[in-house]
Amino acid sequence: MPSKPKLGQNFLNDTDAVQRIAASLGDLSGRTVVEIGPGAGAITGALAARAAHVLAVELDHDLAVHLRSQFSPERVTVLTQDVLHFDFAAAAAAAGHSLPVVGNLPYYITSQILLKLAASHASLDLAVLMVQREVADRIAADPGSRDYGLLSVTVQLYGPVQKLFTLPPAAFSPPPDVHSTVFRWRFAPRIEELGIDEAGFQRFVRQVFAQKRKTLSNNLRAAGYPPQAIVAALEAAQVPAQARSEALTVEAFASLWKFLAKERATPLGEVAPSAETP
Ligand code: SAM
Repeated sequence: MPSKPKLGQNFLNDTDAVQRIAASLGDLSGRTVVEIGPGAGAITGALAARAAHVLAVELDHDLAVHLRSQFSPERVTVLTQDVLHFDFAAAAAAAGHSLPVVGNLPYYITSQILLKLAASHASLDLAVLMVQREVADRIAADPGSRDYGLLSVTVQLYGPVQKLFTLPPAAFSPPPDVHSTVFRWRFAPRIEELGIDEAGFQRFVRQVFAQKRKTLSNNLRAAGYPPQAIVAALEAAQVPAQARSEALTVEAFASLWKFLAKERATPLGEVAPSAETP
């Protein structure tokens, strides 16, 4: 079947990698697993051999038809659907447990899929995902490293991430232009432990990373926080005045957010009429 580049169709042809991906999900016996973008079924077969059931969510109608002809409906349910509209909560309720998720992702919507999984965290156990190598580097980056930023904080807020292995373009057909990395994400949200409001904190993190070249303080001013409140919050959170957002841990962002939430003169995300922006 010819591949459709617009749908991110680069099919995995490395059987060793398939087994490593399936094994990275741990013990699947008696469990339902969700596969995002099963394609021609390279990973699906290995999942069906290990799990009680596979929910395979594939947008491409032709591939979905092909998959249904390959697997028994008792083992694999093929849903012709956009994964961004997939109801993980309903699937977890039907399965009776939080779901393991796996996918060699369509790279054109990587960020949207990660945000969808973050939003569905209450229904998820762990995810083993293949993404472009540079994206995996950003997802797993530690504070202070070149790759650390909005994506790292957003993903790591929902649980620890571990890079597993990297594959060259030749492991796929057709070969993509980039290397690909498989990582594991264990869902263990830190919202309660950090004492933050999820939506408010996410908005705050987008604000502090809005402009890479600016200091944290200048990003906060650009977001509309009063200068004196910024100075006080940085002091209280023991963050140097000239710090860049790339240097801060999730815990430091949470402290700052809490101090600013107490002191702010304007609601988060709103620009005060007299706000000084650099
Ligand atoms: N899992 C297969 C493999 O490893 O060979 C295929 C992986 S391929 C990189 C990505 C797959 O995601 C394709 O089959 C593509 O049709 C599918 N896809 C693209 N957009 C999708 C979406 N919005 N929802 C579900 N599947 C999608």
